[in-house]
Amino acid sequence: MYEFAVTPAVTQLRRPGVIITEVSPGSLAEELELAPSDRIVRVNGRSVRDYLDFRFQTAGETELTFQVKKTDGQTIDIEFDRDESEDFGLMFEQIVPRQCANECLFCFCKGNPDDARPSLFVRDEDIRLSFLYGNYTTLSSITEDEMNRIVEQRLSPQYVSVHATDLKTRAYLLGVDEKRADISDKLQRLLDNDIELHAQVVLCPEINDGKILEKTLRDLASHFPKVVSTAVVPVALTRYNTDDRLTRVTPEFCRRTIKEVEMLQKEFRKTLGTTFAFLGDEIYIKGGVDIPSRRHYGNYPQIEDGVGMVRSFLTKFEKLLNTSDRGSRIVDFDGVTVDVRTNPVAMRPRNPQSATRNPQSAYGTILTGEMFAPILSEQTSQFNAAHGSRLHVLAVPNTYFGGDVSVAGLLTGQDYRNIVAQVEGDFVVIPKHTIKSDEPILLDGMSFDELKSMFDVEVYDLDTDGLIEFLNTVRRAR
Ligand code: SF4
Repeated sequence: MYEFAVTPAVTQLRRPGVIITEVSPGSLAEELELAPSDRIVRVNGRSVRDYLDFRFQTAGETELTFQVKKTDGQTIDIEFDRDESEDFGLMFEQIVPRQCANECLFCFCKGNPDDARPSLFVRDEDIRLSFLYGNYTTLSSITEDEMNRIVEQRLSPQYVSVHATDLKTRAYLLGVDEKRADISDKLQRLLDNDIELHAQVVLCPEINDGKILEKTLRDLASHFPKVVSTAVVPVALTRYNTDDRLTRVTPEFCRRTIKEVEMLQKEFRKTLGTTFAFLGDEIYIKGGVDIPSRRHYGNYPQIEDGVGMVRSFLTKFEKLLNTSDRGSRIVDFDGVTVDVRTNPVAMRPRNPQSATRNPQSAYGTILTGEMFAPILSEQTSQFNAAHGSRLHVLAVPNTYFGGDVSVAGLLTGQDYRNIVAQVEGDFVVIPKHTIKSDEPILLDGMSFDELKSMFDVEVYDLDTDGLIEFLNTVRRAR
């Protein structure tokens, strides 16, 4: 479900081995005369398919032989010793994701405009990316080799889109037959081998809600603590999702779901000592219900899925508001200690020169999605009142995807273009997640440079932690 570096899947052919992309100066790899574009094909006689294989096969080994395919076509063996903890000083190509074999009713690919860039149509489903980045997979087409690999290489935790433990419902949602949809044996095998799992339910009204959801959560909770947590996130339909089997999520549906799941959450806290089943932030916001407390989320097991982001932000914001400059400049942001004397500016503009132009300015515009804007606006008003700043929050409607899409992370260049005239002050902040992680472009293909050129002021791309640190800089400057 993630856009992370999927382009190679459709542009590159796979050859055996893993390609080196960088060699650190002065490193062991440089001493071994390894170079970018070399391909490590075998380690101690075992074949290497990707970075994870390389990591697994070198772990703890002090006597090593690399079989390397050089760019001139030569294959050489390099034998060497190293200290157990000695780093190689190597960077590798990104993993090429494997594709899914499902036809999910709610698949994000069906919600794209026809002219969206090709990488948005790539359906990645890869247990390696699940382990590395928390990407969810359905396990419905996982191979025996992949199952063995999870166990042998301890690729734990895995993130699994369960959606429903009722088999008919799961098969219907995934658009596959029941045999393929049935992952009960696979889940059991992973659990038996002490692989931890985090589960996800994409909640579709009238399909996997109500009693089906209750059964799903109870079934998953029965495997706690090996199934560590479950995220329940609402289906988000763009204006291109016209499948009439899908029903849009309404405020009333959200309130009903909160009520139903709250009863289970209470039960789980009593019996398991954890909330276990976490509802997506959008459900509370859309339902007009207060976001649960800090304690509700424990150690935020589903924060990578965006669940608990709002509470985490509010907690950090409260600390920021209550921070005084008297005495120590050490600020604890929800467990992260920041010394504002040595880390004064956490703004991360792509153009490093721009960081110095307006660090003292307290007049600017923060752009976000329509969902989060009212919450951010309320917090920012308190901040302005306390520090005399003039920060203005602007909700950016998502016209590119339309429909129910109101999260900040799916805003596009054209959405930003639509609100340029409404920006006030000396700078504008955009959500960092709207920029592709490995390339400075937005979801609609607009480059970050083009986006910056639309505004007459500095543009900072910040995530929520970056925003908090940015505000801290503004506060100190007052
Ligand atoms: S079909 Fe389902 S599993 Fe495959 S990419 Fe789409 S939502 Fe994910």
